[in-house]
Amino acid sequence: MTDLNQAKIVLLGDANSGKTSIVQRYINKSYNDHSSPTIGSTYLTKIVDFDKKSIKLCIWDTAGQERYYSLAQNYAREAQVCVLVYDITSKDSFYNLDRWYNSIKDYLAENAIIAIVGNKHDLINKEAVPIEEVKNFAQIIGALYMRTSAKSGIGIEDMFIEICREFTGNP
Ligand code: GDP
Ligand code: MG
Repeated sequence: MTDLNQAKIVLLGDANSGKTSIVQRYINKSYNDHSSPTIGSTYLTKIVDFDKKSIKLCIWDTAGQERYYSLAQNYAREAQVCVLVYDITSKDSFYNLDRWYNSIKDYLAENAIIAIVGNKHDLINKEAVPIEEVKNFAQIIGALYMRTSAKSGIGIEDMFIEICREFTGNP
């Protein structure tokens, strides 16, 4: 397997936005309403077949250290994919994405894929930030924009498919 088929993916964003739940839903097909903030970082891998190629996804979840933006730089180093997660019911979690992005953007691999993910889509009736504003921010930083619910599972598989598609450069 060549390097090209291995993707380092980092998930960043405020505590409680659902990063760990997204990874758990994707890798273990499970969800826990009382997901506890893990201390340290979590590193998980999954091999997916995409467009007749195998891609090894190396997923870094920055558990429990969200207050330390500077630590994110270590996770982000040479990542090909950066997923910025916010909670659609929390304004702050969205506005902090700018800070997350600016903390790590110089550390990512060249031409890294950035994805903004609005999680907790099952709570759409409590959405806190107008979608136009989110899309506008995504456009400014050249990011994909997606929505997920780790709770219902909606959008989770699609999110990783979209990332693989971008990663392999296949439309
Ligand atoms: P992290 O700190 O970003 O890793 O967030 P967690 O994955 O630990 O999730 C924080 C809390 O939000 C937990 O109580 C989760 O059960 C809950 N949560 C995560 N994803 C969702 C979701 O899609 N919908 C709802 N309603 N709650 C969620
Ligand atoms: Mg976590």
